[in-house]
Amino acid sequence: MYAQGLICRKCKKTYPLDNRYHCTECKGLLEVFYDYNKIKQVGKSMFTRELSSIWKYAELLPLGKTSRVVSLGEGGTPLLRADNTGRGLGLRNLFLKLESHNPTGSFKDRPTSVAVSKAVEEGAETIVIASSGNAGASAAAYAARAGLRCVVYVPKNTPENKIEQALSHGAQVNEVSGPYSNSFRAAAESSNMPCWVNVTSTFYNPYTVEGDKTVAYEIWEQMGGNVPDWIAIPIGAGPLLVGTYKGFTELVALGLVSKLPRMVGVQSESCAPIAHAFNRGSKTVEAWPEKIDTVASGIADPLIGYPEDGTTTLNVIRKSAGLAITVDDEEILDAGRRLAKEEGVFAEPTAASCLAGVKKLIDTDIVSPLDTIIAVITGHGLKTPNSLLDRGK
Ligand SMILES: *Cc1c(COP(=O)(O)O)cnc(C)c1O
Ligand SMILES: [Zn+2]
Repeated sequence: MYAQGLICRKCKKTYPLDNRYHCTECKGLLEVFYDYNKIKQVGKSMFTRELSSIWKYAELLPLGKTSRVVSLGEGGTPLLRADNTGRGLGLRNLFLKLESHNPTGSFKDRPTSVAVSKAVEEGAETIVIASSGNAGASAAAYAARAGLRCVVYVPKNTPENKIEQALSHGAQVNEVSGPYSNSFRAAAESSNMPCWVNVTSTFYNPYTVEGDKTVAYEIWEQMGGNVPDWIAIPIGAGPLLVGTYKGFTELVALGLVSKLPRMVGVQSESCAPIAHAFNRGSKTVEAWPEKIDTVASGIADPLIGYPEDGTTTLNVIRKSAGLAITVDDEEILDAGRRLAKEEGVFAEPTAASCLAGVKKLIDTDIVSPLDTIIAVITGHGLKTPNSLLDRGK
């Protein structure tokens, strides 16, 4: 195995690759680290493998060689040119990474596959997760496949189809009143039960970001070894953005590329703790105090009790010379309709928000019409089937 251990993002203390969530010294978030010099010897071969799942990159994932992989064929999603929408926005090189093509309809299958496989390796009997809907649906499916019990905590306003997915896979679903952070806390409180593993795909479970990062490897392969100028991603706490950037930094560490993309985090105006800190020029993110009301429920995370998760994402956005942007519900729904009518791509509003963010990015004037921009379509429109229809107008 090339993964060497877990390292605290704050104090750099290291730990073995076991089931733990925080640094015992400083409570900091943990991250997996690797021996990239050893992985270099594998060379490019893993990138040319035929296997259409994230496990084609097994050397860059934190699972033992003989461990059981819990997979539903996640990853290997299409990268489409979006010339119709691109033309309308004045962009020559707009691409969509269709994460909606994953087994349960969202990118969450990448982090879930890694975290559930790791939980099985650690002898888990029950998987617990806090979710705004998609991660719960995903965890329920992977738990079913692995023969584990699954307990999901979601906010009360979670889209019905996402809850039905989780229930169909046999999960116990608990609806928690208040914002997502209350569900987060409920899941964290049950993490200490023996043989329970918390696979919450914020930074809570340190293995989930490892699944997220495979988006970068695929983009690099699909672009014929090139790196895009910009990648726009809808962000709650932001692990998908952080993971995607980590994937590109690993390609640099492996000597395969020399350029890194600029990361654009898109938040709903109604819940924008990270964008708010970015715009204030602040070093740290603060929890979002206001009432939340948005069509983009998948990114409505006020970070109450864990604002440092947002700071981790803020740091990566800054390091990449990127931006954090807010969009309102009208802009999000307009972007969703564009994708549906101009490109044939059905995205849930949360996912469409990244295209709304791209539109704003163009207005900032720091983007050239020739820049390559990838919008990551994180979840399928069938998750929220009536959300884009505007029958009145
Ligand atoms: C979870 C989710 C996000 C947010 O991703 P994070 O990595 O948690 O920031 C974005 N879009 C969709 C559709 C999601 O389900
Ligand atoms: Zn620490």
